[in-house]
Amino acid sequence: MKKFAVIGNPIKHSLSPQIHSEFAHQHSIDLSYEKILAEDDKAFESEILHLINKGFTGVNVTLPFKGRAAEISSTRTSQVHLTGSANTLSFDNDAIEAHTTDGIGLVNDLSEKIGTISNSSILLLGAGGAANGVIPSVFSEKISHLFLWNRTIEKSFDMVDSWQKSYKNISVMDVIDLNKIDIVINATSAGIDDHASSPINLNDSHGDLICYDMVYGKQTPFLKNARDNNLTFFDGLGMLVKQAAASFEIWHEKKVESKSVEDYLRSALT
Ligand code: NDP
Repeated sequence: MKKFAVIGNPIKHSLSPQIHSEFAHQHSIDLSYEKILAEDDKAFESEILHLINKGFTGVNVTLPFKGRAAEISSTRTSQVHLTGSANTLSFDNDAIEAHTTDGIGLVNDLSEKIGTISNSSILLLGAGGAANGVIPSVFSEKISHLFLWNRTIEKSFDMVDSWQKSYKNISVMDVIDLNKIDIVINATSAGIDDHASSPINLNDSHGDLICYDMVYGKQTPFLKNARDNNLTFFDGLGMLVKQAAASFEIWHEKKVESKSVEDYLRSALT
């Protein structure tokens, strides 16, 4: 039986064991998948060595260790190089191969829900690991322009400086103008705090604006603001399931059906 785990801090609420067990069921694969809490970077690294010695096939990595996971790996995909973040590690003897599937999870989910994001003008809110981690996948869809906005706007200017080395059609939107935007993606953690307000005001948007929040399992102030303006909106549960599907494919070389797993989790969460 192949052994897997997800490592992070906190980890208690991770849905990854459930998701991978549903995917394994689709292919009648026998596997184990556990949650592991690591206190800090040092504990994370020693846990990885321990799992390699115990014959684990791979691990998923979640906050706050995605950067460290990329650093300690022996080989990295081009997306891991670009984003400096890894959420999927495969072990081959002592070698660690790093992948990142968050971006593909977002793009696959948006594509399933709205058709395609090609030629879209996108506003990405946030300047943390989640925002930076999806940028190469978003650009791989040949979008028309990516605008960045963050509460601490200097970080958006820094992001543009850094990403302009790879992509030309990226700029900061320091004064929000939603008339220029087809899709707004909230990659801030504002929704985690029930008392926070929506990071931007959607009241002045045109009626075709599509709103996507990476947070899942709750209606965030951003999604409430979208709902109150009768806009089309989605939470990040589909992204979570589809990044797991991409990890599963890396480890097992098998494609999975993810919509039924998303529906099942959504009914369990509400
Ligand atoms: P970080 O801590 O790295 O970044 C947090 C970001 O949120 C910063 O840009 C910060 O702005 C901004 N922010 C925090 N509070 C507020 C607020 N009240 N108003 C406006 N902006 C705010 O987090 P990550 O980038 O790693 O994650 C962001 C979110 O994405 C998390 O909620 C995470 O759960 C979710 N996520 C979901 C995934 C999925 O599969 N669905 C995958 C990955 C992440 P500032 O710089 O000004 O502090």
